[in-house]
Amino acid sequence: MTVKECKVQLEYTPDLVSVPITYRLARDLGLEINILKAAIDENGGKMILFLKGEERIVAEGLRSLEKARVRVKPLGDYVVKDDARCIDCGGCVSLCPMSAYVMSLDDYKVRLDQSKCVACGMCIDSCPRGAIALNQ
Ligand code: SF4
Ligand code: SF4
Repeated sequence: MTVKECKVQLEYTPDLVSVPITYRLARDLGLEINILKAAIDENGGKMILFLKGEERIVAEGLRSLEKARVRVKPLGDYVVKDDARCIDCGGCVSLCPMSAYVMSLDDYKVRLDQSKCVACGMCIDSCPRGAIALNQ
């Protein structure tokens, strides 16, 4: 069995906000799902979702979203941090909308959790040391 993990952005129109779309992915298909970020109200909105499961089931899940008329945008990229350049200033910690950076209170080092990154690029532009780049 090939396991696939992916991050996608879902765009909801107002008629879809009350439909339990992500719940169905877990209940009907058995996919592991994690909502990384959501900004949805009665007017619609966006959600960033992490999906994990058997490759063909993940593909089926994505097809079911599209069938339900949810716009799905794959978020394939993430950033990497060059620890040799980083001076642990903490700028990226407060800036990242996904809380992908954490400063450890043990050693005051900044660490990146790539699984949370959605490659928005905000930290790349703001790092004073040029320590962050897209993983491409
Ligand atoms: S902004 Fe740059 S230098 Fe500062 S903690 Fe983040 S990666 Fe390190
Ligand atoms: S690219 Fe965006 S989501 Fe990824 S770590 Fe940087 S600020 Fe966070």
